[in-house]
Amino acid sequence: MKPRVLILGAGFGGLELASSLSEAMGDGIAVTLIDRSDTFVFGYSKLDLLFGRQAAETVRLPYADFAKPGVVFTREAVTAIDPSARTVTTDRSTHEADVLVVALGADYDVSATPGVRLGENEFYSVPGATHLGGVLAGLTRGNAVIGVCGAPYKCPPAPSECALMLHDDLTRRGVRQDCRITFVHPLPSPVPPSPDTSKALIAAFAERGIEYLPNCRVASVDTAGRSVTLADGRELPCELFLGVPKHQAPDVVVAAGLTEDGWVPVDSATLETSFHGVYAIGDLANTGAPKAGVFAEGAARTVARNLVARFKDQEPTAKNPGAGTCYIEFGADRVARVDVDFFSGPKPTGSFHEPSTALRVEKERFGATRSARWFGH
Ligand SMILES: Cc1cc2nc3c(=O)[nH]c(=O)nc-3n(C[C@H](O)[C@H](O)[C@H](O)COP(=O)(O)OP(=O)(O)OC[C@H]3O[C@@H](n4cnc5c(N)ncnc54)[C@H](O)[C@@H]3O)c2cc1C
Repeated sequence: MKPRVLILGAGFGGLELASSLSEAMGDGIAVTLIDRSDTFVFGYSKLDLLFGRQAAETVRLPYADFAKPGVVFTREAVTAIDPSARTVTTDRSTHEADVLVVALGADYDVSATPGVRLGENEFYSVPGATHLGGVLAGLTRGNAVIGVCGAPYKCPPAPSECALMLHDDLTRRGVRQDCRITFVHPLPSPVPPSPDTSKALIAAFAERGIEYLPNCRVASVDTAGRSVTLADGRELPCELFLGVPKHQAPDVVVAAGLTEDGWVPVDSATLETSFHGVYAIGDLANTGAPKAGVFAEGAARTVARNLVARFKDQEPTAKNPGAGTCYIEFGADRVARVDVDFFSGPKPTGSFHEPSTALRVEKERFGATRSARWFGH
């Protein structure tokens, strides 16, 4: 009997896990990879959509191109998970597994922030980024608020990138002098584990006249009244809201009893949940590392190595690194890099690499290698 591994979610974590298992075991394993979508989109592509660098068709990578020995991809929506029995119900069938890996990412809870609407005034979903990209072209005066509605949220530097890219967009259109940019952020600094990165971002905001409001979050948005209210009661004028909605674990994961304080508790070294044979990787798992693709990928590789060891009757020794590289759009077509490490020292660290055009090439290579590894193009 081949070991049966069921992976829920073909995002950054699920794709890497299925690829790693296939690479190591080929046809000697039966992996089922489930996703409700027919395409994968890199998180950072949403900024490309927002600022018109790419169109929705070009950023979508079809799962039809994901072909690996030992792996079957199936397009289904997960409707219930029984972690004790490792049984999963979808809109089309029921699946049983020897090993279950939950990699369904984070969802958005717009009900937590009145006035925030999915697909309309947030740039964290493909429809939202695409829609706002169209609206942005009409912004010629007033205050644009980049507002984060709660932490934790995916890719901590992304709203800072949005602020710098917005500055470039308004400058290119000749309307920067008529517009204000305000960035509302619940964290104490743009990238807390890396003071050097935060310092460089704060300096870049100051140079460009971007108002940075740390340690506060958006409580509500009044589109008709063109204002935003912060959690501390302050009110800001707002011609255009570019929002990061509050995040939450998917409802189906909460209903399965897998969460505690909103996220899935795991052994941060092995990604095991408290249920035998059930793992959680990526944005929904509470490992202590940030919610970002590189961390989902590191977790996926760890689970793959340990599962392969187990299937070969060897000792599983791999440990989740909790480290990775994030690229940061700094405007003026330059990209910076921060190498963050959450687990090896007594506290998280992050080393900063100054923005350059060479790092833009490196960022493109980062996407291209994943695209080639997972989709063959
Ligand atoms: C604007 C922005 C910029 C970003 N930039 C970066 C970056 O530069 N570097 C980086 O490392 N990370 C970046 N990220 C973060 C990154 O996209 C996520 O952290 C990463 O995708 C998480 O991987 P995951 O596997 O946990 O979840 P996801 O990649 O979100 O995958 C989850 C999958 O589960 C599926 N799913 C959900 N519910 C169901 C269900 N009920 N049934 C079936 N399928 C379901 C979804 O369709 C999805 O495909 C960015 C994110 C954003 C929004």
